[in-house]
Amino acid sequence: MTYELNVAHLYGDLMNTYGDVGNILALNYYAKQMDVKLNVEVVSLGQPFDANKYDMGFFGGGQDFEQVIVSKDIQAKKAALTDFIEDDGPVLAICGGYQLLGHYYVDAKGDKIPGIGALDHYTLAQDHNRFIGDIVIKNEETGETYHGFENHQGRTFLGNGERALGNVLEGKGNNGEDGTEGAIYKNTFCSYFHGPILTRNGNLAKRLLIAALKRRYPDADLTTQEALPIAATF
Ligand code: GLN
Repeated sequence: MTYELNVAHLYGDLMNTYGDVGNILALNYYAKQMDVKLNVEVVSLGQPFDANKYDMGFFGGGQDFEQVIVSKDIQAKKAALTDFIEDDGPVLAICGGYQLLGHYYVDAKGDKIPGIGALDHYTLAQDHNRFIGDIVIKNEETGETYHGFENHQGRTFLGNGERALGNVLEGKGNNGEDGTEGAIYKNTFCSYFHGPILTRNGNLAKRLLIAALKRRYPDADLTTQEALPIAATF
């Protein structure tokens, strides 16, 4: 393989609901076709996030119980993760991971679980309800449509510098009110989509890989990679 990228699977042993690990499989699938070797490492409790070593971060979803544990530990990684995100490092964060990149998440019991505030959103609770079901969104900038499945208690509201991953065509999205789903900030992509999102929406996997390659290999000619066709799998 001509290229090599290091991926940090953040709390992969704790934040892994609804087969979110399938996102790593999808990344590998497309990386191989792009002539890229992916080195994936779980970075979990007590382990530092090395912003110079990693080319991409993936942070899956989790139950409230795991989120409380991760919320405490991730504060030690806050500076490094924020630096990485600010420096255009590509990150994909799903559901519970998405919530913890923001300021806080109010869980089903009403407890406020701190995030790292690397992105400006916050997440409130619902009154004895969850948003569960199939979801379809459209990103108006790229014209891409994304398909997935959502299952979350939290209602997320976007903040400064964030734009939605897409507008809700079917389903609930961030909060069931404002018609947005997910968030984009620099090269960080957040979503409530399980399914997992990248197996069903390969164009997003490609976007993340291209961003990581451009950052790690600024002089490379990525014409072939950019032309890679994506299978529609939803
Ligand atoms: N525990 C969070 C919620 O219910 C996240 C759930 C998830 O990651 N699927 O909103």
